[in-house]
Amino acid sequence: MILKRLVVGPLASNCYIVGSEATKEGIIIDPADEAEEILQSVKELGLKIRFIVLTHGHPDHVGALKEIKEATSAEIAIHTDDAESLPQQFLGFLFGLSYPTPPSPDRLLKGGDSIDIGDLHFGVLHTPGHTPGGLCLLGQARPKTSKRLGAH
Ligand SMILES: [Zn+2]
Repeated sequence: MILKRLVVGPLASNCYIVGSEATKEGIIIDPADEAEEILQSVKELGLKIRFIVLTHGHPDHVGALKEIKEATSAEIAIHTDDAESLPQQFLGFLFGLSYPTPPSPDRLLKGGDSIDIGDLHFGVLHTPGHTPGGLCLLGQARPKTSKRLGAH
């Protein structure tokens, strides 16, 4: 599994790039800011980004979302309970950061869903608290010989 952490933006937010060594497909988690730096890392890792996953919808996690979406055409995924609040977050943001209005999500997640890319499987855990739709991803590589099973 390819895993790279970037610390971006004035609030030092964590952005993760996770990818499959087997298929060179990847996901970006929380493209908070500094789109150019994120995209440069993606290029260096040789990944084709399939999903942009937001752990929650706060502005300090989505500052580079528009640019990353435009550059990668990857699907934006966020928990359904945070999806509605995504654009509005930008109107009254207290820290004085100005970001482009984020694009609408392509895929709404809930606990128990999964995201699969290449040989990697990410289980979606709904972890509300910080926001109603906060989520965590539990990632693991699928064994090469296993057959894909249906959702459970
Ligand atoms: Zn937050």
